[in-house]
Amino acid sequence: MSGNRLYRVEGLVLKTSFLGDRDVLVTLIASDGSKLTAMAWGARKLTSRKMGHIEQLNQIDVTLYRGRNMPSISQVQSMDNFQILKGNLERLSQSLYITELVDGFAMEANSNPELYTLFLDCLHALQDSNANHMIVPFFQFNLLSVCGHMPELYRCVECGHVLDSYSNRFCIELGGLLCDNCKPELWRVRFVNDDTIDILRLFNSSPNFPRSSTTSEDIYRELRSILDKSIRYWLDKDVQSSDFMDHVGRYSREQVV
Ligand SMILES: [Zn+2]
Repeated sequence: MSGNRLYRVEGLVLKTSFLGDRDVLVTLIASDGSKLTAMAWGARKLTSRKMGHIEQLNQIDVTLYRGRNMPSISQVQSMDNFQILKGNLERLSQSLYITELVDGFAMEANSNPELYTLFLDCLHALQDSNANHMIVPFFQFNLLSVCGHMPELYRCVECGHVLDSYSNRFCIELGGLLCDNCKPELWRVRFVNDDTIDILRLFNSSPNFPRSSTTSEDIYRELRSILDKSIRYWLDKDVQSSDFMDHVGRYSREQVV
């Protein structure tokens, strides 16, 4: 009977919160892309070996016990704790930012394996990269894509006509570029540089995280502005860790210059 209530899940820890001085509530994204919350009873006790495994950003193999209200963690083993990533402030700040986005977009009981793969690939890219500032925007673009909100870059979002030449008018709320004829009254239309559109189209056609970043600071800022605002629009709330990541990123780039 109890055997039927045990099940095994691979996942990545999105956040933990302490409940009193003994227990920990763990939120994770499972490998099928659904979000789940589980109780780690007694994890904070000195005799428990669970605590080290359920750290934020750990990839874990966990056996859960199906409870009446929520599952509880029976056994847990970390598969990868991303130690190098956690030991570097800039990469850690980027990881915490993408983790907050995944926490915001993932839904309970809603399978989205591409979201899990994107998150895991991004953590590996951040861990293996050498200060590549294109990783976060590439993640943002693909996050919108796997969640069904990919910016439209090839057809006018208002009338659907194929954009046969460069159109530089972008509307966040409508979700992409506009042709020269369409002038939506309700929404703000932004002018976007050709280089920024080129990067977005490159993101759309590339299956892998970029291995280098050569763009200017102005184009990078415009790219991030479009993606930040698009994410803010679909998420419908501010991303708390964004300012911290940008502050650390600016400081790091100044040190390089
Ligand atoms: Zn149009």
